[in-house]
Amino acid sequence: MRVGILALQGDVREHRLALERLGAEVAEVRKPAELDEVDGLIIPGGESTTIGRLATLYGLIDPLRKHIRSGLPVYGTCAGMIFLASGVDGASQPQLEVLDATVRRNAWGRQNESFEASLDIDGLDEPFHAVFIRAPWIEQVGDGVEVLARWADHPVMVREGSMLASSFHPELTGDSRVHELFLTMIESGEVA
Ligand code: GLN
Repeated sequence: MRVGILALQGDVREHRLALERLGAEVAEVRKPAELDEVDGLIIPGGESTTIGRLATLYGLIDPLRKHIRSGLPVYGTCAGMIFLASGVDGASQPQLEVLDATVRRNAWGRQNESFEASLDIDGLDEPFHAVFIRAPWIEQVGDGVEVLARWADHPVMVREGSMLASSFHPELTGDSRVHELFLTMIESGEVA
């Protein structure tokens, strides 16, 4: 299985290590044609406005939409989730608008800019130690979106068909269970 990581900006290296620990082959994706060569794609955290601007510059917006809409499994973490979402509260920035959810950037306020939480995630037996860094929360989700985890009453992890998104950074801890969940989604070949 070959998993791509959108490598425009953000914590590409940490996702690579997490995937390699699970035995997946990893390819960095920067050009539209490279999307044809992967079975799934991770969009890392970083700064969503920068990712959006670079994706526009590299002509990636439409090819990404096309591949994701035709079923390429995708997992967006933090800024990656913002980039996938259909809207951002109070801002306009380049987005893929493929995930039926609106998000609020930097939602937890100054004192909680970064925090860690023990999170119950649907499908995982034990809580997951989740790292949030200037994280968004999910404001609203459409009917087809399944909420897999909440923190302080806000959805922080969702799934819609072959799309997975989380406000937190599972690549920053040694725990590979969320990446494993994504690999299972790829293997099961589910189409959105
Ligand atoms: N605050 C960033 C944004 O709005 C996301 C932070 C992150 O990815 N850790 O894009």
